Amino acid sequence: MIGVFGGTFDPVHNGHLRVVQALVRTLPFDELRMLPCGEPAHRAPPQASAEDRVAMLRLAIAGMSSIVIDEREVQRNGPSYMVDTLTSMREELGDTPLVLIIGWDAFVGLPTWHRWPQILELAHLLVVQRPGTTTPPCREVEALLQQCQVDEVSALKTAPAGCILLHPVDALEVSSTNVRESIIAKEDVGDLLPVAVLAYIKEHNLYQ
Ligand code: ATP
Repeated sequence: MIGVFGGTFDPVHNGHLRVVQALVRTLPFDELRMLPCGEPAHRAPPQASAEDRVAMLRLAIAGMSSIVIDEREVQRNGPSYMVDTLTSMREELGDTPLVLIIGWDAFVGLPTWHRWPQILELAHLLVVQRPGTTTPPCREVEALLQQCQVDEVSALKTAPAGCILLHPVDALEVSSTNVRESIIAKEDVGDLLPVAVLAYIKEHNLYQ
């Protein structure tokens, strides 16, 4: 079973890392991939370059053996549509269960994604609860939950795609926006990021 945690990672922070570490510890993933987005389709472009965002991710996951970086979106031109990414992964993986990991805030926005009904044909969804995000699901998302929600992690291993699991994670209340704003305000962000990522940000004058 392969997990994919997509994000802008502008920059990666301890909230992201808390999620992936908790998931590899408690769920039977053979591999967990962090997938930096190249050109986000539904939001402003990232402030840091793809090269810098990947470099920070590399520093953040150094020593975490079951976590890897999948660079296909930053290497592709054009908007990073998740449906294209999952299609290319599915071609490589055959029938291996593929699990797209997203925060609740991203999940409630699913109907705005390009060709979104195809996402569950290609992967399962594992939705992690994020503190402070209580947006209720819209009608389409509610219907999807009624149709696809499962209660057991084991269900994800019985099919390549098609299930939704809501998974509580003891998440940290931090966002990349917080980090960027705090850096501009010259506040201490030492608790929000790994030391090596903060050193990289300072060295390359990012988010000033
Ligand atoms: P920004 O503030 O720039 O929107 P972000 O902190 O939300 O950034 P992203 O890289 O956009 O980070 O998020 C990638 C994924 O990580 C999304 O699915 C998001 O819901 C999830 N995520 C981000 N921060 C947390 C957190 N503190 N706890 C749990 N999930 C998180």
